[in-house]
Amino acid sequence: MNVTDKVKILREQAEQTAEPGYKAVEKTAEANQHRLLQIFQKHKASSVHIQQASSGYGYDDVGRETLDQIYADVFGTEAALVRPHFISGTHAITAALFGVLRPGDHLLYAGAPYDTLQTAVGLNHQETGTMREYGMECSVAPLDEDGFPDPGMVAACLQEHTKVVALQRSKGYDDRPSLSIARLRDIISHLKTHRPDIIVFVDNCYGEFAEEEEPGHAGADLIAGSLIKNPGGGIVRSGGYIAGAQTLVEQASSRFAAPGIGLEGGAMFNALPEMYQGLFMAPHIVGQALKGALFTSALFEQAGFKTFPSSSGTRTDIVQAVEFEDKQRMVRFCQAVQEASPVDAMVQPRPSPMPGYADDVIMAAGTFIQGSSIELTADGPLRPPYRAYVQGGLTTSHVTYAVTHGLETLLREKLIAVPAEQYM
Ligand SMILES: *Cc1c(COP(=O)(O)O)cnc(C)c1O
Repeated sequence: MNVTDKVKILREQAEQTAEPGYKAVEKTAEANQHRLLQIFQKHKASSVHIQQASSGYGYDDVGRETLDQIYADVFGTEAALVRPHFISGTHAITAALFGVLRPGDHLLYAGAPYDTLQTAVGLNHQETGTMREYGMECSVAPLDEDGFPDPGMVAACLQEHTKVVALQRSKGYDDRPSLSIARLRDIISHLKTHRPDIIVFVDNCYGEFAEEEEPGHAGADLIAGSLIKNPGGGIVRSGGYIAGAQTLVEQASSRFAAPGIGLEGGAMFNALPEMYQGLFMAPHIVGQALKGALFTSALFEQAGFKTFPSSSGTRTDIVQAVEFEDKQRMVRFCQAVQEASPVDAMVQPRPSPMPGYADDVIMAAGTFIQGSSIELTADGPLRPPYRAYVQGGLTTSHVTYAVTHGLETLLREKLIAVPAEQYM
């Protein structure tokens, strides 16, 4: 049997495996779409809001103010701050944490933070301007043996001066499962029983609209994320959001802008049309990405690899890890995904150092918006067990095509051998 025929069989099997999961994803997308529709209507979103194109200070921008309220409702919080001026998710998260912490305060992260946040809070001891340098201390609560924050263990790590507990919904580049809304709810209610004064922050990157509820519905006090991931719906060109209790969002906005300006300023230029429309499209786009992730998992399981989550596992984010156990395989897979991109397909990504990351990183990102990982991307730090993280996809068909091309490349170049019984 030639490689093309083998891949065709594996692909068909993967599609069958993924079918029931596709149905569940569609149901979630429909529920979120309906929820968004109701929220847009409740706030009387109008062409006047969307066509606002404020300049200068950006005072009295009703389009921006209404979008903030819409975001607050979507994420189950009192207030929100949604801005194109946030250059990334890391920037929004850092503004949120810096906004509420003061010198002498302790930040407890449940599990190691996402790579760039490790730098920002000062766990890497390398950069200047970190939270540590400002006298805020960060420590990491260990996870249980399954890789989840155990409510009791997190509570045991609370110190008298702990002000914020940070939970990360998506595993990011870590070898652990992501945190479902149900788990977040459990941990948050446990922490609040112990210490009602604790502020619970949730890094919501990659999680938005993967379930029918958001961290605010589960009791989180403060949330942040990136607009070039899920809530931008694939069309927002830059930005981030912070959502949470009014006082906390105000504190974060003082850090984002300046004390006294906070939520009142920030010209939106021509960013509002894509921000409104992107949010509205996000449940559908996230659904496309989730189906792509499911297919990726099913396909590579057929080929004998470990995938996280597995094709039958529960999903609370769009990240799909495939464990290649070998550097060359991981690199070639990512390069093959790049070859199957609409943009920069002729470019070959190579492992290289990245700001904020400790290990060399390979990134396949043939995206319309630079680094946008709601568009199909495959990347990861080059460290054992060589897990590539595949996420995003504006259309499921693009993902299925690209990852199938990745598998085919590995088979053709004899970097992997799939046992004969898999083709039956
Ligand atoms: C993407 C991501 C971030 C922020 O990353 P940026 O590249 O700065 O947008 C933070 N936490 C998690 C879990 C992420 O996935």
